[in-house]
Amino acid sequence: MVSRRLDVGILGATGMVGQQFIMQLANHPWFRIAWLGASERSEGKKYRDLAWRLSAPRPAEVDDMVVEAAAPGRAPRIMFSGLDSKVAGEIEREFAAAGHFVVSNARNYRMEQFVPLLVPEVNPDHLKLIPLQQQAKGWKGAIVTNPNCATVPLVMALAAARHFEPARVMISTMQAVSGAGYPGVASLDILSNLVPFIDGEEEKIQTESLKIMGTLQTDRVVPHPMVVSAQTTRVPVINGHTETISVQFTNKPSLEDLKAAFRGFTAKPQQLGCPSAPKQPVQVMDEPNRPQPRLDVEREGGMAVFIGRVRPCPVFDYKFVALGHNTVRGAAGAAVLNAELMLAEKLFD
Ligand code: NAP
Repeated sequence: MVSRRLDVGILGATGMVGQQFIMQLANHPWFRIAWLGASERSEGKKYRDLAWRLSAPRPAEVDDMVVEAAAPGRAPRIMFSGLDSKVAGEIEREFAAAGHFVVSNARNYRMEQFVPLLVPEVNPDHLKLIPLQQQAKGWKGAIVTNPNCATVPLVMALAAARHFEPARVMISTMQAVSGAGYPGVASLDILSNLVPFIDGEEEKIQTESLKIMGTLQTDRVVPHPMVVSAQTTRVPVINGHTETISVQFTNKPSLEDLKAAFRGFTAKPQQLGCPSAPKQPVQVMDEPNRPQPRLDVEREGGMAVFIGRVRPCPVFDYKFVALGHNTVRGAAGAAVLNAELMLAEKLFD
């Protein structure tokens, strides 16, 4: 559907999410990496001379690219952002004001009224906020965000079961260390241990999920009326956030109907043929001890959410385990899918 690959840039190209962006965008059928930006620590260096921290080899197409200052100017119109949230607010605003579309992972703008907090399978209609954002801010560009990495598996599961009307949700997470960026949690704090606190994470899961599942009205998203209670922990896993979730529904389904809803879930990115869209976005595993991060997180290129142990809950209606790849489906892959949806919907024209 795309005759010529569009040039894209990556802000924060040297970080955990930035490197995952490079993996997702190298040889992408619709996009071509044309520009890399990071802090003054990396500026002016060839990408091959900076530390590469993923187990997959660094794609050769970025080897000789020189990292630039994170400022608009020569950067392409479509920008992905894996910037540290301490600096993302100001830099992303500068790019949007200068006419760039910034598809961001950072938390800074997620909850703003006119900013889509997008999961393409769940709320593709929220992209209609973009013209309102441009009008309100006076920008030619725009900012579109993806949620916190732990929120993605939760909302994918809830969206698949949306017609049973989730009303009350309890979620406990076991989150991978790569979710904290590099160098992240000190090894002496996490090896043979877990840390039962991730600053700000519970609030993000509790509020972002309501916006994503919310209803778009004329000029705002009305949050979903469900109540979500989250507890979050950091565990010694490299990639993959595992979540135990209990849900009470207004229209309680049978166990078989709930599993069928998970299995049958499909949405706009699948219909539009977005290259990063998993064929089956929510996959149910029947083995009693799955999903597991080490065994399952890389399946489907890290873009699907894996659900297991779907069973009755004596407190709410049902409980289950969900697993999502935090730097792929929860970050870079999510943003690339957002941009694919925007391109398929002709929003970059
Ligand atoms: P990270 O590994 O710490 O990387 C941060 C990036 O920001 C680096 O490229 C760094 O460049 C750049 N940066 C820092 N200060 C800068 C400055 N003053 N000017 C320009 N660039 C600057 O963090 P990460 O884990 O990739 O996370 C990136 C963003 O994604 C964060 O906002 C995070 O909350 C969000 N996120 C992360 C995950 C995850 O699973 N890791 C999931 C969802 C969302 P240098 O290398 O040059 O310092």
